Amino acid sequence: ESQLNPNYNFDNFLEGDSNRLARSAGMAVANKPGGTSFNPLLVFGGVGLGKTHLAHAIGVEIKDKYPERTVLYISAEKFTQQYIESVKKNTRNDFIHFYQLIDVLIIDDVQFLSGKSGTQDVFFHIFNHLHQNGKQVILTSDKAPVDMQDIEQRLLSRFKWGLSAELQSPDYETRVSIVKNKLYRDGVEMPDDIIDYVAKHIKTNVRELEGAIISLIAQSSFNKKEVTLELAQQVVEKFVKNTKREVSIDYIQKVVSDYFEMDVATLQSKTRKRHIVQARQLAMFFAKKFTKASLASIGSQIGKRDHATVLHACKTVDNLAETDKQFRKYIEDLTKKFT
Ligand code: ADP
Ligand code: MG
Repeated sequence: ESQLNPNYNFDNFLEGDSNRLARSAGMAVANKPGGTSFNPLLVFGGVGLGKTHLAHAIGVEIKDKYPERTVLYISAEKFTQQYIESVKKNTRNDFIHFYQLIDVLIIDDVQFLSGKSGTQDVFFHIFNHLHQNGKQVILTSDKAPVDMQDIEQRLLSRFKWGLSAELQSPDYETRVSIVKNKLYRDGVEMPDDIIDYVAKHIKTNVRELEGAIISLIAQSSFNKKEVTLELAQQVVEKFVKNTKREVSIDYIQKVVSDYFEMDVATLQSKTRKRHIVQARQLAMFFAKKFTKASLASIGSQIGKRDHATVLHACKTVDNLAETDKQFRKYIEDLTKKFT
């Protein structure tokens, strides 16, 4: 199973100045996997600019041209989960062996590996093996290698061996063609002034651009509303508001446990091991800081503790933040993930 999504291909990845380099490099790699100097190919750029789409497109194209090669697409998050699982089950070697046999390895969102030294270490070995054997590695990230934090130097230097190509925010013309292409594929017509309005107002994220158009299509076909400029304005406004992420206690626990390379169940467990206790206390601290939940509610959701435990956790975190440099770093890193 390659995990590739055939709906993400080169045909529907529209070209513009903002993505020309990355798109062309992707095509070059697809024509000759492992046989160009773009190895690894690292595609980086902000949210919703097409990294995942392009990563799949390269894999889909390779599978089409070279059906006998094994291509695997995986998110860095899933890769990390599999690795943690393998350590638990004592199958770390099988895990490594499996990845070393792949011809084209595509790892999406490698920034997720930041701070995860165990996963980075195993990826370093897999990467070296693949690269030495002329296999192709394709990576995506939300940052350029120079801006990546908490990724080991030796891994960063590997990332720089090949080509790093940026996906930038599409310009107005490209946004219009993306919208028109979407409408065309869905067999929907929409007046030019509406297309123009949406493309002018949603600039920095193709996913939001598509989301607004999908919402307009739905309004007109299911609610039978006429797509007026006013409706477009409402949708765009709602869209921009709705994209502000809600931070939930579940989400906080997930992020904190990922950060410390443990499961949520471990974070919630009764163990007194210091690093687990600290992770749990940090989750409580962030739940108090970023949600409106009461101390009692936070406690009951984070491993069925009482409100006094949560209060104690928050005080402990405050104290450690003042006295412990490493701990302060944890707080800073995690805060960035929530804001
Ligand atoms: P990222 O992984 O960078 O967050 P995605 O690859 O998920 O972004 O892209 C978000 C959405 O925008 C997807 O539906 C994708 O198909 C679409 N998209 C992005 N860039 C383009 C493009 N150049 N042409 C067509 N669709 C695009
Ligand atoms: Mg993505």
